[in-house]
Amino acid sequence: MPVDILALAAHRDDVEQTCAGTLLKMAERGHRTGILDLTQGEMGTRGSAEDRAREAAEAARILKVSWRQALDIPDGRVENTWENRLKVARIIREQRPRVLILPYWEGRHPDHYTASILGYEAAFLSGLSKLPLQGSPHRPYKIIYASLYRDVRPTFVVDITDQFEARFASLMAYKSQFTDQQAGSGIFPAQKEIRTRVESMARFYGMMGGVTYAEPFVQKEIGLVDDVLAIPVKSI
Ligand SMILES: [Zn+2]
Repeated sequence: MPVDILALAAHRDDVEQTCAGTLLKMAERGHRTGILDLTQGEMGTRGSAEDRAREAAEAARILKVSWRQALDIPDGRVENTWENRLKVARIIREQRPRVLILPYWEGRHPDHYTASILGYEAAFLSGLSKLPLQGSPHRPYKIIYASLYRDVRPTFVVDITDQFEARFASLMAYKSQFTDQQAGSGIFPAQKEIRTRVESMARFYGMMGGVTYAEPFVQKEIGLVDDVLAIPVKSI
């Protein structure tokens, strides 16, 4: 059974930090959602790949995700190779999403921006009938970019006011990452600080859309309007 929306990210917990409220909202509306993590988290300062797998499954349950899988691309070494593009294209053919959510194409972590380009090119390849892969060709109708990791003006925001608490809970499911501990204490914020940061970002984007909490996205295409009387977000 295909998914309606597939979110692709470099690391387990990236989706939870950038577009999990949107995924949950779509699932609550009856759509099938999926998450493809490119790596398994073996390079993380905290916890092992096994810890991450367990935590990712718990987060997926909280987010009512229908399908989740992690590929075996090395953590910290996400490269846009032919082999990796085929791995992702295979999943796109299998899961046949109408909407593909990718990370924004610029960022601090090379895995994040590489995942963006890799995801786009795999989605293109997946539509080629002569590609040496099983399954019939498929391209997502729409690609949107989750831009929360990057200070960039979003094209639109999704109101996640009703999903915010569950979204936060899905992030906290990564106990090996976010529980206060000695390992990585120089780079990870304390647990109580995380709540403030996550909430501040959601509030900021919520304010831009005139709601309490929201998640930001960028689309490359122009917006199409049918009825100018129904355009949301107040101007003055
Ligand atoms: Zn990441």
